[in-house]
Amino acid sequence: MKCPRCQSALQVATYENVEVDRCAQCQGVWLDQGEIRQIVTTQDEKFTPELVQETLKKALTGVPRDEQDSVELCPKCSTPMNPQNYNYSSGIIVDVCPGGHGLWLDRDELEKVQAHEEHWQAKLEKERPQWNRLAASAAGELEEYRHLQDVKNKAPHGFVWRQFDRLLAKLGKS
Ligand SMILES: [Zn+2]
Ligand SMILES: [Zn+2]
Repeated sequence: MKCPRCQSALQVATYENVEVDRCAQCQGVWLDQGEIRQIVTTQDEKFTPELVQETLKKALTGVPRDEQDSVELCPKCSTPMNPQNYNYSSGIIVDVCPGGHGLWLDRDELEKVQAHEEHWQAKLEKERPQWNRLAASAAGELEEYRHLQDVKNKAPHGFVWRQFDRLLAKLGKS
């Protein structure tokens, strides 16, 4: 397979026990369908507060203009890929094959995706005792429910790869 950005040959590399195709020249990564799920759920690597900060600073909604203008072709089927804002609002733009082959991440984007995930995971863990306290009282049940809904709406951990799997599956069928 060739890199969709710079046309160099992609090389098989191992990232957190998952075989990925990486471009030695631009450091982009191609993930076959399902691989992002494996990587995001593994989370072996820890991120510096700086990287998390940088990721969250880029938390813009919508697809930036320059990403919309560049069209990358799927390395498997040569179909133009669709830029997608990872998890809707992370600000991390990935290119998804409409044929359901997988997705392309530019240099450092895979790390950013993981940092994004870790941040929300940590937030959920930190708030767990608070939910438990609320749940202990009958009056707190509704409040807990509302809070969970709120967290779910803002940062649905695990929603990310479900979304992609669903998207890829849907596109693959059409
Ligand atoms: Zn490349
Ligand atoms: Zn494809």
